[in-house]
Amino acid sequence: MKFGDTLNKQIKSTRVNKKIVILPFLLIFIAYLLVTITSVNSRIEYYRDHLMEDSMEYAKSYAIGISKSAEARDTLNELLEERLLVASRSTVLLQGELDNDRLSEMAERYRVDVLYFYNPEGEILYSSNGEYIGWKASEGHPVHEFMNNPLEFYAEEIRQDSESDQYFKYGYFQREDGSFVQVGIYAAEIYDFIGSFEMQQLLDEIKDAELVHSLYFIDESLEIVSSTSKDFIGASISNPDLVDAIRRSREYNSTVEIDGEELYYGLVPIYIEDDKIGTLAVAQSTEDMDLVINDAIRNGIYNLTSVFIVIGIFAAYVLRKNKQLVEMAYYDSLTGLPNQEYLKEYIQEAIGEKKVEDKAILLVNTENFRHINMTYGYDFGDEILREIARRLKSVIGDRHVVTRFTSDRFVVFVEGRWNKGQLIDLAETITEVLDKPIENSRNRQYINSQIAIVESIRDYFDVDNLLREVSIALDHLPRESSVNYIFFSEDMGEKVSRWDAIENEIRDFVLNPDSKTIYLEYQPKVELATGKISGFEALARMDSEELGRISPIEFIDVAEKRLIIAPLGYRLLEMAVRFAKGMDCQWCKDATIAVNISGIQLLRDDFVDRIKGIIGRYELEPERLELEITESILLDNYHVINEKLKVLRDIGIEVSLDDFGTGYSSLSRLGELNVGVIKIDRYFIKKIDDQTEDSHLTHDIISMAHKSDLKVVAEGVETVEQLEYLKKNDCDYMQGYLFSRPVLPEDAMKLMASTNKDK
Ligand code: C2E
Ligand code: CA
Ligand code: CA
Repeated sequence: MKFGDTLNKQIKSTRVNKKIVILPFLLIFIAYLLVTITSVNSRIEYYRDHLMEDSMEYAKSYAIGISKSAEARDTLNELLEERLLVASRSTVLLQGELDNDRLSEMAERYRVDVLYFYNPEGEILYSSNGEYIGWKASEGHPVHEFMNNPLEFYAEEIRQDSESDQYFKYGYFQREDGSFVQVGIYAAEIYDFIGSFEMQQLLDEIKDAELVHSLYFIDESLEIVSSTSKDFIGASISNPDLVDAIRRSREYNSTVEIDGEELYYGLVPIYIEDDKIGTLAVAQSTEDMDLVINDAIRNGIYNLTSVFIVIGIFAAYVLRKNKQLVEMAYYDSLTGLPNQEYLKEYIQEAIGEKKVEDKAILLVNTENFRHINMTYGYDFGDEILREIARRLKSVIGDRHVVTRFTSDRFVVFVEGRWNKGQLIDLAETITEVLDKPIENSRNRQYINSQIAIVESIRDYFDVDNLLREVSIALDHLPRESSVNYIFFSEDMGEKVSRWDAIENEIRDFVLNPDSKTIYLEYQPKVELATGKISGFEALARMDSEELGRISPIEFIDVAEKRLIIAPLGYRLLEMAVRFAKGMDCQWCKDATIAVNISGIQLLRDDFVDRIKGIIGRYELEPERLELEITESILLDNYHVINEKLKVLRDIGIEVSLDDFGTGYSSLSRLGELNVGVIKIDRYFIKKIDDQTEDSHLTHDIISMAHKSDLKVVAEGVETVEQLEYLKKNDCDYMQGYLFSRPVLPEDAMKLMASTNKDK
């Protein structure tokens, strides 16, 4: 599996934690689903209750109606019967003979419609309207029925007359001899009126008026005596619950399925003047309820879908946002490479689980990038970084992975186990590719790259440790070395703890004005033509209680690496300037003081101001100060630095180019450089003794320098031969053990006085 795959998968699965998004999504969805189900249910429940209430309401209100109607009908009947009784009895009781006219008269008087007088055999003898004389009631006819009736008076229910087909209510009154009178009231309207009180009709009306499914009137024998569903008339109630409710005269409701249709029933007992006459059952279809339920479910589904879509869109948005955040968190926006976070997590996983193949990591440092940034601005800096990233990717390809570790450092992961030779090849390829200048329309810049390598990450337990050690390795790469890579080794780790101690000493010194841990010694510089001391070079010394004496090569290096060279350098400069100011004896008041300046100091924007500030504060003539700078810093930042040097030289401060010959600056370029002195490195001076071809290099340097109007200082002169050679070749000054080692300030002053006094 490839590095990228692993971490990409990891990023997908753990970092863009979908669970975090999807879980709430699901929860909200489920919650909403529950709410929907509950609301559908409660709507159904509500409707059911409503239906039941309606049924009961109908049943109750109509039960009252029915009771009242029944009472009214009875009253009306009673009134009619009263009239029939009065008319018939009065007729029977008439004195004298009856005839048609008398009957007619009686009918008029008692406001009845017909009056018939029957003989005991049931034959009409007289009639109020003169009709039907001689008509005789046959067997089974209501009139015949009455004849066999023992009652004196009898009133029939309204019926259709067998002869005229019209509706009449008839009453009969019997004489003792068996003859009788029939009284009739024309009752078509009354029949309709009373009929309206009929249960069947009532039920039909209710059904028309209210949207009920059907109504039933059940008598006390549990028989359905009337119903709007005609098929049920005559049927008996058998359902035990219903039977029970009816028997106990309870109000009751229930759902009953009839012919596949579900119906709601409300049962209410009906009373007429405290006498229960039966039970009214009102049935309502649940069809409407099904509509309601469907409606509720449809709404629910609609809402649910809406919610699903809304949450879905939201979740997608959150996921995308989250992914962007992850990308922001794991990728460098400038170069598009995975960043330090990515790097650390991957390594931690790899070394933590020991799952992945063994790998090497290469830390690629672009040494001068920071200076480029400061010199050309951040836009060009960004361009350079993108270009570096692009070049690295092109070398590394897809097989391995490049990450941006810090602003100007990149880490390359080498997939699989590579031996030292392969890693060196890769490192060389990388530096080769990065060596080519990077240019845009305005600038052209070289990148100095160095590479530190940890051969195997297998033995590490901790990412930070691994990254620290690869950085340590980088620090151990000698500055001016032809090799651009270095492998981490264990002893580097030990060195680092020493460096930590040195760093602490330097910090203490910088913070504490009374500290004597670091001090200056002064090495005289002798003018060869006169033998006089022309000045001194200030050389820093460290004598630590804990670590003993430490070479400036080491502690200056630490100060540079740990970025505390600037405060240290200015402190030392101040000490040197104070010393120079104090040298005011007759022979030494023109003596110059040369101070070594680190390239890092030189690059800082405030450099010139700081120098001016210090000489201003001590009121030292600028001519008495000399700054020694090394070539290497010039290489990458020629223009910026040369500008600064010009400013310094314009105010009178001399600048010398230290360790000349060890770097890359070409002699031909010396003319345009703002320095007044070059200091030939000890290496060339040593060669003088060798009597080889190289011995004459010093001669060449001196004559070239003179052509550019530069003074020449020979460093590290230890032998008389060297001295003679230098004199012979017109070297201007010498410095070296031959004349004097660096000495303490008071000795320097004595030395100067004694040397220059005689000359
Ligand atoms: P450098 O600037 O090239 O200093 C000259 C070095 O040569 C000094 O070493 C000096 O003691 C030594 N030397 C002088 N004459 C002879 C000789 O005849 N034979 C031999 N073998 N050596 C001789 P030192 O003092 O150990 O300083 C080493 C380097 O440390 C300096 O090299 C300089 O680069 C750096 N350094 C010293 N002091 C300072 C400082 O205050 N600031 C900065 N930035 N660098 C400093
Ligand atoms: Ca020097
Ligand atoms: Ca030197």
